[in-house]
Amino acid sequence: MTISHWQRSHSFTVPDIQTDVLIVGAGYLGLSTAWWITENSPDVKVTVIERSRPGAGASGRNAGFLTHGSAYFYHHLSEKWGVEKALSICRFAETSLELVNQNILKSSPEIKIDKTSALTLTRKKTDLEKLHPDFGFEWTNAIPEKLNSTYEGAFRKEPEYKINPMELLNTLRKSLEARKVQIIESSGAFELFPDGVRTVMNTVRCKKVVLALNGYAPEFHPAFIPLITPNRAQMLAIETDDEFEAASLYYDPAERVYWRKAGEKAILIGGKRLLDEKGETGNFEKVSPKIQEGLEDYVRTVLGLNYKVIHRWSGIMGFTEHELPILKKIEAPLPTWFVGGFSGHGMGLGFHAAKETSELVSGERNQSFFQGFKDPKISL
Ligand SMILES: Cc1cc2nc3c(=O)[nH]c(=O)nc-3n(C[C@H](O)[C@H](O)[C@H](O)COP(=O)(O)OP(=O)(O)OC[C@H]3O[C@@H](n4cnc5c(N)ncnc54)[C@H](O)[C@@H]3O)c2cc1C
Repeated sequence: MTISHWQRSHSFTVPDIQTDVLIVGAGYLGLSTAWWITENSPDVKVTVIERSRPGAGASGRNAGFLTHGSAYFYHHLSEKWGVEKALSICRFAETSLELVNQNILKSSPEIKIDKTSALTLTRKKTDLEKLHPDFGFEWTNAIPEKLNSTYEGAFRKEPEYKINPMELLNTLRKSLEARKVQIIESSGAFELFPDGVRTVMNTVRCKKVVLALNGYAPEFHPAFIPLITPNRAQMLAIETDDEFEAASLYYDPAERVYWRKAGEKAILIGGKRLLDEKGETGNFEKVSPKIQEGLEDYVRTVLGLNYKVIHRWSGIMGFTEHELPILKKIEAPLPTWFVGGFSGHGMGLGFHAAKETSELVSGERNQSFFQGFKDPKISL
């Protein structure tokens, strides 16, 4: 986004403000990082700015899988990084879910949580046979009846949480407001300068900045273009009157989809982006017939359901070349940290990643877990 010469020197509605730490982006990562900073340092003044409204990005648009990720994900990571490193990522995700459960889910009756398992559907058990047992995926034949003819079974992991992501974000938001964190909407940042950040509404003077922009980072600054690729992900929601018992979260890596029930009759299904990989690159939110038809085809032919479509939507994810997030201090006109590039796994890894980001900001930690995988130089 750019801003005109005239807009630059005028703010009509919002006076300039001063804060200790400014967080740019009110998605799951921005809000969770604010939560951790104020949890550990209640005297630090934290402000969050968001160009739209909290949860406007991927965090309010995902399928609501608070998850470790699929067995296929860890199989892929093991091949890429070796078993030990892949296991360390699995432990990071386990800690993330445990932290969000202990600190947020357990004490928030307003979030309807379904503590469940995730099943990675597998046509032949041998497909993922090489997955190391320490990842904690257990083989099961207990899959929804309609799937028995297509799949031999599934690799199950638990606990996983089926949530409404907007309820989670709203809870974080309320908790931050109770801690006197100001969350300013409709306030897109467009420039860092030595004393702070210029937004479309005002100037925020601050000592430290956290950029929690995920897939939108390249829009903010071209230095992110080679590092973060915005990729669209689409979802389809259907309603069915057919009997269909399916209590878990489901991944189907062979078909490149993931799905879950949302209430008695509704099913949410996402994926199929590889049907049009090139067309799904970019930061424009839209649904496309090619992907939506692929998702509907899965409902018809694999799940075997009669259905009516109740909703379609999309969101923008930030992918890195190494498919793991980047969390680090970067070179900028003032002390600045970046957290993003979750490559489709931000809800699973996010709360722990936010904790590490807060520790980088406070100086308690000088390197994030993910810098041990890749540590690109970022200079704004
Ligand atoms: C359809 C879909 C399904 C998904 N499924 C899963 C899943 O099952 N499991 C999982 O773990 N993850 C999943 N993800 C990914 C997950 O949602 C993301 O990894 C996670 O939400 C990233 O959170 P974030 O806070 O980093 O980014 P975002 O939620 O994108 O937040 C970035 C925020 O920055 C704001 N912003 C942008 N530019 C500016 C600016 N210049 N100034 C101020 N604010 C700005 C945006 O409006 C946005 O609110 C899915 C994503 C999508 C789209």
